[in-house]
Amino acid sequence: DVYKRQGRCMSGTECGMLEKKQEGRFFMYIGNHLSSAKGYEAMGKQAVRLGGETFAFFTRNPRGGKAKEIKPEDVEKFLEIAKEQHFGKIVAHAPYTMNACAAKEDIRELAHTMFTDDLKRMEYTPGNYYNFHPGSHVGQGTETGITLIAELLNQVLHPEQTTTVLLETMAGKGSEVGRNFEELQAIIERVDLKEKIGVCLDTCHVWDAGYDIVEHLDEVLKEFDRIIGLERLKAIHLNDSMNPLGSHKDRHARLGEGQIGSEALQRIVCHEKLQGLPFILETPNDDEGYAAEIAIVKSWREGLK
Ligand code: FE
Ligand code: FE
Ligand code: ZN
Repeated sequence: DVYKRQGRCMSGTECGMLEKKQEGRFFMYIGNHLSSAKGYEAMGKQAVRLGGETFAFFTRNPRGGKAKEIKPEDVEKFLEIAKEQHFGKIVAHAPYTMNACAAKEDIRELAHTMFTDDLKRMEYTPGNYYNFHPGSHVGQGTETGITLIAELLNQVLHPEQTTTVLLETMAGKGSEVGRNFEELQAIIERVDLKEKIGVCLDTCHVWDAGYDIVEHLDEVLKEFDRIIGLERLKAIHLNDSMNPLGSHKDRHARLGEGQIGSEALQRIVCHEKLQGLPFILETPNDDEGYAAEIAIVKSWREGLK
């Protein structure tokens, strides 16, 4: 049962969402990417203000660099909010500059340092997700890229961690690794601690990568299941795309303002196989825009049996 497997909220219990499920109504957790500048409690409050039930944030400056020190009191206050609100799992995002399969050794070492540090920091909020872009092979070839990414994962993952690390599906711009399900699975296959690994599906990215989630959503999910296994799918980045299917561009659009469109996005939100997952908006929006999109997604969810 998809719900039992994935639908646990941060209170550690089967939350109030269960009633909706029992009433035969679909549910998922909706939220958006938030600024982490003011700390955890501020993010929790901001999520609630916008109507969110989960959220995402950068563990450090998206361009890399040193992470801000975590204050245990701040995290404590956040965890209380999350519990009280029955937030779904939160989805931290690694900096864009982190490239596990860079050609230069110092860049790979930096990736190792940031990844290790981020995983330590994630344990302040146990049991959540750490999402990263697998990397860009910068001309070394996909095979080398996959090898280097798996090597890094085998160095940084450890049995005691409660965090699940998510590989994000990529649009395939430049030399990005992870532009199809096969590449992601090739990485996973080489990881020893497979139970610590999951996948985050970005709707804009898979569309740009050539997966037709508008006309063939069921088939795409079947393909995901066949190649990776749906039990590994832990989170969704819910974005429209400015560009056509297979464009390999990676330009996010607001829901309904891109080439994927509202109807297809609604089918994704309400898809039986995706219930219980955190859905994160990474659309070009200000606070008001995010609150409006969260409300739209909730109306899609509520409108369906
Ligand atoms: Fe991302
Ligand atoms: Fe994304
Ligand atoms: Zn993107």
